[in-house]
Amino acid sequence: MKRVLITGGAGFLGSHLCDRFIKEGFHVIAMDNLITGDLKNIEHLFKLPNFEFYHHDVSKFIHVPGELDYILHFASPASPIDYLKIPIQTLKVGSLGIHNCLGLARVKNARVLIASTSEVYGDPTVHPQPEEYWGNVNPVGPRGVYDEAKRFQEAMTMAYHTFHGLETRIVRIFNTYGPRMRLNDGRVLPAFIGQALRGEDLTMFGDGSQTRAFCYVDDLVEGIYRLLLSDYAQPVNIGNPDEITIKEFGEEIIKLTGTEQKLISLPLPTDDPKQRKPDITKAKAILGWEPKVSRSEGLKITYEYFKSLSKEDLFKMAN
Ligand code: NAD
Ligand code: UDP
Repeated sequence: MKRVLITGGAGFLGSHLCDRFIKEGFHVIAMDNLITGDLKNIEHLFKLPNFEFYHHDVSKFIHVPGELDYILHFASPASPIDYLKIPIQTLKVGSLGIHNCLGLARVKNARVLIASTSEVYGDPTVHPQPEEYWGNVNPVGPRGVYDEAKRFQEAMTMAYHTFHGLETRIVRIFNTYGPRMRLNDGRVLPAFIGQALRGEDLTMFGDGSQTRAFCYVDDLVEGIYRLLLSDYAQPVNIGNPDEITIKEFGEEIIKLTGTEQKLISLPLPTDDPKQRKPDITKAKAILGWEPKVSRSEGLKITYEYFKSLSKEDLFKMAN
């Protein structure tokens, strides 16, 4: 049985990856310090003999007994309000955390896949963003703690690949959504759906003309799985190129939820990227991958998930 370590395994994406690797017959070790994650996301796996959970901060030395075939480094605060609240931990998990994972991988002779992000492109001046674009990041702006940690993480990973011959993979993930997102993580989809469910107005930042392109979580997991098993060590964008303005997105959520509330405009956060859309030419050519779930389909599933939360959760999580 192949053995995989998934850091950030109790988070939104990490927990979906745990599910996928269990389904594929792996022995899965999830590691998480629960700073933004939740054991509820993986509690259904605890009874399985091929699943283990380690409560550990990956920015500190990592010890895992036994063999490892793969390490997926997904630990990191991921939403702007999270990384603004814990900027130093964000920088540490992207630097010390990946260093520990790469060191562990050398000892175990494991292949490492890192969760990078469309944020390495910053506020992009090239649109849509191909992997060859070097980005437009403000290192000392509020988002710099996340963006630069991820850029460092890519550089460190590539250095281990080049200098130590380690097997590495880099996925640049674009905005992804689905069940198990936290209602209070501040990202636009849970924010809008949470507000609709609580009967509050939807808080659009700026005039809503900025764009994003939203990928359903199952599509992302499929792309990551294919990349891990591929022989391609350069970065690959995984995302859904179906671009939409935030204003149009808010209107879609209003229609989906049937809320009587309206969109209200709040100030645009500093350095908020004005446009974002993945160029997925590489993923198509190298992995034979493209997204399958439309936004209307994915939003319906995600809305059902948020509706299934208790009223108490809805209000407690919003604080
Ligand atoms: P999340 O907050 O749900 O998950 C992150 C997990 O990492 C949490 O469970 C958290 O407790 C854990 N963690 C954070 N610091 C840790 C540390 N020092 N030690 C151990 N565990 C730690 O976020 P997510 O959306 O699931 O994001 C997962 C990864 O994917 C992140 O690396 C993020 O940067 C990347 N990513 C996500 C998106 C997206 O749209 N969701 C987009 C681009 C990149
Ligand atoms: N946004 C918004 N209202 C919210 C939260 C976010 O209008 O309540 C906007 C935000 O300014 C950004 C877009 O939605 O332009 C996506 O934000 P999110 O935090 O989801 O992701 P990211 O900026 O990291 O792509």
